[in-house]
Amino acid sequence: MGVPTLGCHCAVCESKDPLDKRTRPSVLLAYGSRNVVIDTTPDFRLQAMRSRMDRLDAVIYTHGHADHILGLDDIRPFNLKQKSAIPLYAAEPTLAALRRQFAYIFDHSPTESLVPGVELHTIDGPFELFGITIVPVTVLHGKQPVLGFRFGKAAYLTDFIRVPEASKKLLYGLDDLILDALRYVPHPTHSNVEQSLALVGELRPKRAWFTHICHDLGHAETNAQLPKNVRLAYDGLQFGVEL
Ligand SMILES: [Zn+2]
Ligand SMILES: [Zn+2]
Ligand SMILES: [Zn+2]
Repeated sequence: MGVPTLGCHCAVCESKDPLDKRTRPSVLLAYGSRNVVIDTTPDFRLQAMRSRMDRLDAVIYTHGHADHILGLDDIRPFNLKQKSAIPLYAAEPTLAALRRQFAYIFDHSPTESLVPGVELHTIDGPFELFGITIVPVTVLHGKQPVLGFRFGKAAYLTDFIRVPEASKKLLYGLDDLILDALRYVPHPTHSNVEQSLALVGELRPKRAWFTHICHDLGHAETNAQLPKNVRLAYDGLQFGVEL
């Protein structure tokens, strides 16, 4: 829902610490001259401005929930600037959600308005994207399978409660693991701090970054409780990755 959460006056929502301001979860992979974004959140426009993103080469989707797709309309300036459609990569159920939520993009009825230009690609296994390999990692978001992604020595797993054994095999030897840790209290579809720490203990990445954090977790006081190699991610966090 973002932090501050609308209408909430808890200590984290009222915090003056900029690290307690959280837009919806997304990642920009910048390599060579390419910019690839994971998910187009409702905050996509603000996030792209903040990172001074001058072009967009592709979007990869984890799943079709509103907090991960609703910024798609804001890719239009890149369509205009680059004079091309933007490739979107997603598993079939996520492509179906995009077609449903953004019917105006796909119904091909004549319009006087500019609609996003997109090219859909189905993810059904590891794929090459501008010279690197993106490995999809199936995780369970409640009962729903959604995708995380491994790229080189890093992986991004947002929105999951459980990682199946077959997927864990794809997640060893990481330098950086970015993973869901919604709050301390258990949740039916999201991993909490305790569950995520257990997964970090099992997979043993060099560093872990918690994301998809709600207003239950204050940045400074939560970090003080975590092991040194596990930190809360924050808006604008950047680091290098061996691809
Ligand atoms: Zn709050
Ligand atoms: Zn979700
Ligand atoms: Zn989400």
